[in-house]
Parts: sequence; structure tokens; C-alpha cells
Amino acid sequence: MAEFMELEGQDGVRMAWNVVPGTKQEASNCVVPVSAIYTPIKPFPSMPVLPYAPLRCRNCRSVLNPFSIVDFAAKIWICPFCFQRNHFPPHYASISDENLPAELFPQYTTIEYQSPREASSLPPVFMFVVDTSIIEEEMAFLKSALSQAIGLLPDNSLVGLITFGTLVHVHELGFGTIPKTYAFKGSKDVSKDQLLEQMGFFLNKPKPSTGVIAGARDGLSSESIARFLLPASDCEFALNSILEELQKDPWPIPVDQRASRCTSTALSVAASLLGACVPGSGARIMAFIGGPSTEGPGAIVSKNLSEPIRSHKDLDKDSAPHYHKAVKFYEALAKQLVHQGHVLDLFACALDQVGVAELKVAVERTGGLVVLAESFGHSVFKDSLRHVFQSGDKDLGLSSNGIFEINCSKDIKVQGILGPCASLEKGSTSAWKLCGLDQATSLCLIFEIVKKDIPDATVQSSSNQFYFQFLTYYQHSTGEMRLRVTTLSRRWVAGPGSIQDLIAGFDQEAAAVVMARLVSFKMEIEAEFDPIRWLDKTLIHICSRFGDYQKDSPSSFSLSPRFSIFPQFMFHLRRSQFVQVFNNSPDETAYFRMILNRENVANSVVMIQPSLISYSFQSVPEPTLLDVAAIAADRILLLDSYFTIVIFHGSTIAQWRKAGYHNQPEHQAFAQLLQAPRDDADAIIKDRFPVPRLVICDQHGSQARFLLAKLNPSATYNSDGHHPGGDIIFTDDVSFEVFLDHLQRLAVNKI
Ligand SMILES: [Zn+2]
Repeated sequence: MAEFMELEGQDGVRMAWNVVPGTKQEASNCVVPVSAIYTPIKPFPSMPVLPYAPLRCRNCRSVLNPFSIVDFAAKIWICPFCFQRNHFPPHYASISDENLPAELFPQYTTIEYQSPREASSLPPVFMFVVDTSIIEEEMAFLKSALSQAIGLLPDNSLVGLITFGTLVHVHELGFGTIPKTYAFKGSKDVSKDQLLEQMGFFLNKPKPSTGVIAGARDGLSSESIARFLLPASDCEFALNSILEELQKDPWPIPVDQRASRCTSTALSVAASLLGACVPGSGARIMAFIGGPSTEGPGAIVSKNLSEPIRSHKDLDKDSAPHYHKAVKFYEALAKQLVHQGHVLDLFACALDQVGVAELKVAVERTGGLVVLAESFGHSVFKDSLRHVFQSGDKDLGLSSNGIFEINCSKDIKVQGILGPCASLEKGSTSAWKLCGLDQATSLCLIFEIVKKDIPDATVQSSSNQFYFQFLTYYQHSTGEMRLRVTTLSRRWVAGPGSIQDLIAGFDQEAAAVVMARLVSFKMEIEAEFDPIRWLDKTLIHICSRFGDYQKDSPSSFSLSPRFSIFPQFMFHLRRSQFVQVFNNSPDETAYFRMILNRENVANSVVMIQPSLISYSFQSVPEPTLLDVAAIAADRILLLDSYFTIVIFHGSTIAQWRKAGYHNQPEHQAFAQLLQAPRDDADAIIKDRFPVPRLVICDQHGSQARFLLAKLNPSATYNSDGHHPGGDIIFTDDVSFEVFLDHLQRLAVNKI
């Protein structure tokens, strides 16, 4: 695995197959698709940033790179994608094999170009959209978090504020002495024209006759924009005084009703206002939502409390009356935001569901951030929000206005991307919009091998390389426009004898992550899709093709180290929150999948197969198998399942702690043993966005379920003999051993 991580350290790429099956048929035999997880703006401290424009192939537009063949005498380079011969322009006249420009250095397969000319004068824009249909206590938490966030905003950023409950209120921040708001009815969607009309954008001048409004450039004066979007440094006082005065939604709520909450109308007003004021700039709508939407086109449930909020069962049976309408609304909102180049960030904080499942499309297509917590007072929300605006080494590196493009050798093409982006659907080229992206944003690229078959003669030829070039244009957090270019080369193989090469190039972690994104995607879009069956079939295929065995002899079965933990990943993926959705609400499922869809391989692996560390007096802290056998009375376990971190005290440890031994000077070693997992948990929490939930629990306590649910049930109530002080799991799930046994049996009988 180490060499795959090294490649990731250079280019931000992990591929499932690093030796690529060379034909359509070979690729289909490999079952796991030819695919990559790519982190487009992963920071590389030693990567050069070139202060000039890239050279492009005059035929296919791909960018000059270390795989180009250069004829220094003739001053010509040959494009590895289309074999076009290109002349170097005059300012490259001095190049030689001793005087290479940085973009031809073999180690700079990933490089950036910056174009100072295009440096944008547009500052970052934040439009806060704040739910007020929440109880006083939550209101207080939210106000305090927001006022802290406002204090952290970059001085030059522009800020706006919309609040909503029964009505939508757009706050005018650029007022003289009297605070002014514009109110819109929450039950009805407001068109952009109505919005501008009502807010008096055209009081002093006639409305543009075209009806198309595109910001300051044609129609809106900067004064009218400055009423609603103000530099953070100028309006901190105004914003804070509005927040201070902010009351919870005043409309009475009958006891048998839910609060009136017009989330969709508020977001639509925010989108239209930004579309009118700052189209094409890197603006973010930051939505703070504290309960289910009950009003307007995006309502997820009626106000009547006797109607429950949709569950996975309801969605499965297609008996969630509001769901499709709401999703349709948010699809349209996504389209509008993508067109405008704006991002929707979602902070959903409630015990109830708020509609994350419906909003998902708009957040994901615009590359927005998402945080789900139980309360605005919970550290998951508060610390995550602070993290967004934090600068320094934990900076998220929020960037905007991205366009992502892929060039490939002609025998391979992109089939699709799974991740936080929107297809630009521009003809034959492969381009996607990334309205918002950050240092962690990771896309899953799925490729298709086009080549049908290979004449024998070329199989062993020297040109059996596939080339890939990933181009990311984006507005860096400093405001300047950048182009990141990553060019890769991977050998392809075909025909008999290629299996060992394929095995050597298999990255089982990357493959597991691709499978996790694929299965989540299929569960969402394919009716009647059976994820367990699909995963099992895939795994059996893989094992029967790449395993080593004698036909019909399960005991002879073995897997190369390259594949050896893949079955374990699939076992845990089958049991994970991505596949076993019925254990969670649709909002939680949507949340887990949105995070999976934007994270890199290492983080995604933790989501699929959590890590477990054991602490005891007998040894130094050590990783231990994710198995119920890890539980012991005199051990502490630290489980990291990405979204939740669990510190689990074995029963003896818990007794000692309750007796206060750690406070006694003679038991310092115990105090240290208690503290060690706390410190390790804190280190994980500090690095992660969104901030995970921390659960501290004892063996046999009710919270212990957070650990038990993730463990391999090797000892259950229907298995005999578990070790003393250990634990059993109440489940009918099969254990990994039983799973593996079945797998080997099926794999060796397959062909
Ligand atoms: Zn070319």
C-alpha cells in the first residue's frame, strides 16, 4: 500500500487499478471499475506555482507535461494524448535537456499556474440564512455561534442576512439609523423579478427591458447591492445588533402542530438575491436550520403533528407525500446556484429531521459543506462552524468557481464522476463545475475502456501506457485564479499472463472506497437495487478471478496480500451506515453519504471499517481487530468511525474510575491510562471537519451500542464460549469468519 500512498502524496490520486486492464472485456472481468479518487486541490507545499500561462496542444488542448516527448533541436513537443507535434513558442527558445521549464520536470506531474491578470476583485460573499422557528434556548446557542463566526470573517468579505420562520425577512444592513427588513410570504416561492421589485432595486431607474438581471454589470447599482451585502468590517456592529434583537418566530404554534418553517422559500430568496447582486462570484449561502420544513415548495412534512416525518420505509414504499416535490424544488435550486456559481452550505441542528435528504442535491452539486448535529449548542456544530472560518494550519482552504476537466488517451474515457460537482454537459468534452471546493474535496472518477481488442503485435509494444490529465481551474482562497494540472501515466496490460500485473497494481483501499460510493449511488438511483447481493456478487467474482485455489477446494483458497483485506472491507461495508440504511433516518443517511462522497481514501476507509485502538497496563496503545473479542474488563478501547469517536471503558476500568482511583497520587499510572485515549481522541477531533461526535461510555452501559454496532460479532448469544470479562453481541448477523467461509466456497466453485 505504501507505494500507492506515495503516488497520492505526489498527485493527490489513488486508483483502484494502477496497472490498467487494457480492453473493454478485460476491464469488465476485473469487476471493480477502472477508477480514481482525486483530490483536486490537495495542498503540496513543494509544488511549483508558475507565474505564466500553460502551453497547450494545438489539437486537443491538453497541457504540456512531463510525459510529452520533446525534440530540443527542433523545439517541438509531442502531445502524449493525441500525438500532435507542437512548436514551442519563442519564449521557450532557450530550453534544452539541461534547461527544462518546471512543467517538464519528471517529478512535477502535478503543478499549478497562476494568472495574475485575472486576479478577481470580487471578495468572498457569505449570505447567512437563519431559522428562527426554534425554541429560545436553541436561539441563544445559534446567536452566540453566529456572532462568533462574524468576528472571524475575513475583513474584505461581503455579508448578508436573511432570517425565516413563517415569513422570510431580508435584512438591510446598510441602513442609516433605522433597521429595515423586507418580508416575503413563506408559503409561496418568490420569483427573482418579484424579489427585486419588492425590495425597490429599481426605484430610481427603469427596470431593464430584457427581464434578465445579471448584477451590477447590467442594471443593479452598487448602492442597491450595498444595502444587503456589506463588507464584514463595516457591518459587524449592525449584524450583531440585529442578532441581539432577533426573536424566535412570533407566530403561535397550536399544540397539535409543528412550527411554521419556510426553509425552501428562504433559500430561494437568498439564491435570487445573490444571483442579482453577485453572479459569478464565489458566494456561499450558509443555511442554519433547526427543524423540519413545513411551508412552501420544499416542505418535507405537514404542520400536523399526527403526520410523521418520512422514514426510509416510507421512501422505500414511495409513501412520503412531500418527498418528490421537495427534491424537485431543490434540483431546480441546485441548477440556479450552479448557473450563478454559488454554494449552499447546510448546518442542520435538531433532534428531528430537517430535510437534509431533500436538500442534499443542492448542497452536493454546488460543493457545499454539511454539518448535522442534535443542537446548535452541541460541539459538533459549534466547533465545526468555527473550523470553517479558522485560518492557519487547520484552514479548510475554501475555494470557489472551479471547473474540472479530464483528458485521456483515446482508448479510455470518463464514464462519470461521483462527488460534489455538477456536470457542465458541454458537448463531447468532459467538464464539471465545482462551485465550492476545498483542500479535502475528493472526486471519484469512473473510467471506461473503449478499446475492443488488441492485435497480438501491440501487446508487448513499448507504448502500452494510458495517459490521464486532470485540469482544475479555480479561485484560490487568496482570490487569484489558478489552474492545477495533474498528468498521470499508467501501464495497461491485456491477454493471458496479465493477471499478475493486475494484482500487483490493485489498491484495495481505493477499490473499497470506489465500491462504497458506487453502492450508495446505486441505492439512491436504482429502484429495486439489492446492495448486499450486488456487493456479494462483486466480491465472489473478484475472489474467483484473482484468488489462488484448486477448483472445488475451498480449503486451498488464498488471496495475494494485494487483495487480502478487500473481503474484510466488503464485510464491513455491508454492515455500514451506507448500506444498512434502516438503522438511521433519511437525513442521517444523506449526511453520511455526502461526507463519503467528498472525502479522500484514508478518511473514507475509516467510515467503512472503523479503526480500534486498545489501551491497557499490559502494553503500549495498539491497533486491534475490529472484533467483539477486543473487549476486556481491564482495557480501554478507542473507536474511530469517522462520524463518531467512542472511548469505551472495560468494566474493571469503569469501576476504578467511579471509585476515583485516578485522583489518588498512588494511582498515577491509572490516571495516565484514562487520559491517553482522551488525548488521542482530541487530536483526531481537532483535525477533522465536520467535527465528530465524542461518546464516552462504559461496558454494559447504554451508550456502549455505539461501539458494539461496529464490531465483528465473532461471539454472539448463539455462539458458545466467550472469554471471561469479554462481551457478546445480540445479533443474527453472520461473523466475518462465517462470511469468509461462504465466500471461499462460492469463489472456488464459480467457473
Ligand atoms: Zn494533444
